[in-house]
Amino acid sequence: MAEQQALEKYAELALRTGVNLQKGQPLMINAPIDGADFTRIVVRKAYELGASDVHINWADDELTLLKYENAPDEVLTDFPQWQVDKYLTFAEKGAALLSIRSTNPDLLKDIDAARVAKASKAGAEAMKEFRKYTMNDRISWSIISIPTGDWAQKIFPDKSKEDAMESLWEQIFKIVRVDKEDPVAAWDEHNATLKKAREVLNKKQYKKLIYKAPGTDIELELPEGHVWKGGAAENTEKGYNFNPNMPTEEVFTLPHKYGVNGTVTATMPLNYGGNVIDNFSLTFKDGKVVDYQAEQGYETLKHLLDTDEGARRLGEIALVPHESPISQSGLIFYNTLYDENASCHIALGKAYPTNLEGGSKMNDDELDQHGVNDSLTHVDFMIGSAELDIDGVTANGETEAVFRKGSWAINFDE
Ligand code: ZN
Ligand code: ZN
Repeated sequence: MAEQQALEKYAELALRTGVNLQKGQPLMINAPIDGADFTRIVVRKAYELGASDVHINWADDELTLLKYENAPDEVLTDFPQWQVDKYLTFAEKGAALLSIRSTNPDLLKDIDAARVAKASKAGAEAMKEFRKYTMNDRISWSIISIPTGDWAQKIFPDKSKEDAMESLWEQIFKIVRVDKEDPVAAWDEHNATLKKAREVLNKKQYKKLIYKAPGTDIELELPEGHVWKGGAAENTEKGYNFNPNMPTEEVFTLPHKYGVNGTVTATMPLNYGGNVIDNFSLTFKDGKVVDYQAEQGYETLKHLLDTDEGARRLGEIALVPHESPISQSGLIFYNTLYDENASCHIALGKAYPTNLEGGSKMNDDELDQHGVNDSLTHVDFMIGSAELDIDGVTANGETEAVFRKGSWAINFDE
């Protein structure tokens, strides 16, 4: 088992740097029941830091699976209003939301992909109103992960459950900087580096990014007034900073929803809805997926793309150098929070309105006119590698190197 001291540091980091918990603020936590010990540490620390109320939504992979195996379709697709109201009530009170995400990537592999798709779509539809709070940064929210047995053994299949858990704790502590003397200070420094990168890119205001790598040749138009973000985000209601993802290594913006053309090939497996999609590629025309293939998980990919109109368009472009600490671990985590921060990625589905100047105050029509994609889903997938080159096209049509061989070609210190 991981040392108590490291667990305490991690819990404190999630609360201080992650959601930046304020005195007197309520806190809602989504946590796996297998992580009850760690969650209790978080709760104790939250009260110490002045939380007024801490509410836990326990998730249990085994119970989720039993429900998928046994419940009729109409139950799976009925996301009860009282669940929605619980989230909305906390959001209206200005609560912070901490999600501890540690699902077994193969949990639902034997369940009909159509059933899984229908249930997750119903959930996304029901939670649409609440999602506006997170996607517009109107509440502070953060996602972290902790090891659970099945997940750890997926990453380290040759190890016993206990050894796999221990190895994963070790990796997580290193990647989220809990092994540093002062993790909060280490994060401040890391956020300052990401801030420098996004500020340079915001000034550049590229019209277009062109990606070239084996299996990838694609042009992504960037809308006027696009905003690169990364590292700490700002709570748009209260003004203080928080970190939506821990770890995070990306700077990201949105592509124009009608301006994506070409083919892109994924470089890592994607864990989506309890299934793995692997060795897949997508071809876009005028922003929309017109062709796709997958060696593994084709049905799951198909259901993802058929979620709604916006699921076939892109909502995010993220740049992550190939030498990020996560890719240096050499591991595939089968967990998007980790894998997306090892690699350049793009996301199918909804764009963050905060990636457009004034976007968080726009209505749906205005967002569409500015090229901001809308969907019930937002799914990142990885396209980075040591062979990826990216060019940026400036306003006057000049082409500049942005990435070469998977790493930054821009010097941010100039
Ligand atoms: Zn991302
Ligand atoms: Zn994303």
